[in-house]
Amino acid sequence: MTAELIDGTAVARQVREDVAAGVQELLAAGGTAPGLATVLIGDDPASEVYVRNKRRLCVAVGMQDLHRHLPGDVGQEEAAALIDELAADPAVSGILLQLPAPKHLDSEALLARIPAEKDVDGLTTANAGLLAQGRPGLRPCTPSGVMVLLDRAGVALEGAEAVVVGRSVLVGKPMAQLLLERNATVTICHSRTRDLAEVCRRADVLVVAAGIPGLVGADGVKPGATVIDVGIHRGEDGLHGDVDTAAVAEVAGRITPVPGGVGPMTIAMLLANTLEAAKAQQGRGD
Ligand code: NAP
Repeated sequence: MTAELIDGTAVARQVREDVAAGVQELLAAGGTAPGLATVLIGDDPASEVYVRNKRRLCVAVGMQDLHRHLPGDVGQEEAAALIDELAADPAVSGILLQLPAPKHLDSEALLARIPAEKDVDGLTTANAGLLAQGRPGLRPCTPSGVMVLLDRAGVALEGAEAVVVGRSVLVGKPMAQLLLERNATVTICHSRTRDLAEVCRRADVLVVAAGIPGLVGADGVKPGATVIDVGIHRGEDGLHGDVDTAAVAEVAGRITPVPGGVGPMTIAMLLANTLEAAKAQQGRGD
């Protein structure tokens, strides 16, 4: 293997340490500890694991865990009432509605009730609009985690050719906008892109978030490029990404592993967003 591994586990730990220090500074300045309200509806085992990790790391950085759990058969009105209650509660700095919600609920309508300033997942239409317009706001956690990985690895973005594979609201679109904000020349690929490998080979920075295991191979990577693999797939032999890591690592200059790349960054950025939200709400924003 020739590529340098970008260690997301280590960077995420540093981000969490910075957040913990920020919480202590906020308290020392007379502020109150940020509160994160994770909202879990139903008993999906994968969602339970994700929420448990978020709550554990929230407490570890000195924040208040204001978790709420609703039964899987809860009605839309009752779920909406909980979001409204959290929106009005000054102890709650951030609200995270764990998705997917049960199918009978309109999760878009629930998300829309989260005030932009408490939307620590950065997924509301209001925050997506602020990002699209290049105005300050809370950014989606996974793509902002990728930006931190690129910065900490010293990857030059200004004028670079960046290719993003995937155009989801959760990852691909905000990823492209964040790269554009940093003056990269950005191309977005999707399922209708003709000759994906040919487009990917242009990239100095390639971010793959397609949800297809091993979609990008060595023929889709320019020698020396930085490759960020957002994909997560659970196989019998462990976790895999959207990139054929072993083959691509022979061509790329830097690559994120799966696991231990982008994955740990998502929760770290959720905590960073929660601190940012708390500071803004307490009149102590940057
Ligand atoms: P998604 O909503 O399913 O979107 C996938 C995107 O990939 C779509 O825009 C789709 O294009 C595009 N695509 C599908 N097949 C393609 C192909 N053959 N060539 C090029 N583009 C193709 O997925 P997502 O939520 O963005 O997630 C993507 C992956 O990242 C998943 O594996 C997910 O598990 C992972 N993920 C990881 C984290 C983390 O914390 N590490 C967080 C979120 C997601 P169309 O728009 O044309 O359909």
